[in-house]
Amino acid sequence: MLGEKQIKWEKETQSELRQLEEISQTRNLITTECAYDPWLRIEGKKLMNLASNNYMGYAGDERLKKAMIAAIQTYGAGATASRLIVGNHPLYEETESELLSWKNAEAGIIVNSGYTANVSIISSLAGRGDYVYSDKLNHASIVDGTILSRAKFMRYRHNDLEHLESMLKRNNDNARKLIVTDSLFSMDGDFAHIKELVQIKEQYNALLMIDEAHATGVYGKKGEGYSYHLGLQNKVDIHMGTFSKALGGFGAYIVGKSWLIDYLTNRMRGFIYSTALPPAILGAAKAAIEIAQRDQERRFLLQKNAAYFRKLLTGHGFDLCGSQSQIVPIMIGSNEKTIKFAELLRHEGLAAIAIRPPTVPENQARIRFTITADHRKQDIEWAVEKIALVGAKMGVIR
Ligand SMILES: *Cc1c(COP(=O)(O)O)cnc(C)c1O
Repeated sequence: MLGEKQIKWEKETQSELRQLEEISQTRNLITTECAYDPWLRIEGKKLMNLASNNYMGYAGDERLKKAMIAAIQTYGAGATASRLIVGNHPLYEETESELLSWKNAEAGIIVNSGYTANVSIISSLAGRGDYVYSDKLNHASIVDGTILSRAKFMRYRHNDLEHLESMLKRNNDNARKLIVTDSLFSMDGDFAHIKELVQIKEQYNALLMIDEAHATGVYGKKGEGYSYHLGLQNKVDIHMGTFSKALGGFGAYIVGKSWLIDYLTNRMRGFIYSTALPPAILGAAKAAIEIAQRDQERRFLLQKNAAYFRKLLTGHGFDLCGSQSQIVPIMIGSNEKTIKFAELLRHEGLAAIAIRPPTVPENQARIRFTITADHRKQDIEWAVEKIALVGAKMGVIR
């Protein structure tokens, strides 16, 4: 017999889901096969993959697979405990040392995921009485970390540094201040203004943290990230990035000064109270760092593909939301129209994601495409033809 409270809870959550359904905001899980390939399979249908973060194509790379198998054979399937207990298997030290030489950084640490990294860094570093300044389009994990920290949460309009400064001016000079931004924004495909952010953080005595999740492996001479591409890496206090996107695997890293990494190692709850990554995951991460550093050719190919895709779409009259990267959204507007658009694309053989609120603001629903180094020129041309067909049919372009 269910208690009355439980029945109430069930009823209320179901009615909440029904409300979401009415505004086309419910989501469901679909099994995807071959997600590492430019052509994936969903429910038996072959679709061009314009939705993965596998920008450099490493998720299907034989060298990563081999490294993972070797790691399993030497160190086993699981880490058995958190890193501070007995889970710190030798591949951690090997991978972190590779990470430091790649990033040319003083200190660094690998944690379980990008989500864990952001929540843990911000909630351990900032506390009551501190201020966290965050771009409105920052990733949800940055938002969650800030809420958990209990610091004052100051959200500035996307890339609006005057807005940021006006907040910094108003707040207490003596308080500790942290400015956080994605380097490459995951929904708009545009970049943070890191040079200006560095000037501001110096002027107001704040720390600057950059989330390079979508830029790691893709920007910078050795794929170290967008701040490295700009030559500003030494001006950034906290670098965070992931092995889960362009690097094809899973897990995340933090690099910075020794004082920072020492502190985080002792304080991050998502690090202390969670089991260490399985050896195979570190095997892949280490192989991916080694490969990505030397892979200018694929980075160049990726940029070329992305630029070509943007150029063709712009030529058709689509609004690309300011994209300058391999993440290319087209603005649609309402939820219903965006979902219909994605459905029609799928009908034409394209897998792309309808991005809706709360991920983006109301009435700014969009279709988000991602381009990889594995897409061929003719794939891109074919895709744009289909997108334009659907765009015209839906009245998004003329
Ligand atoms: C994907 C992403 C994360 C989370 O990384 P995971 O490794 O998937 O947990 C954090 N920040 C940004 C900007 C991201 O795009």
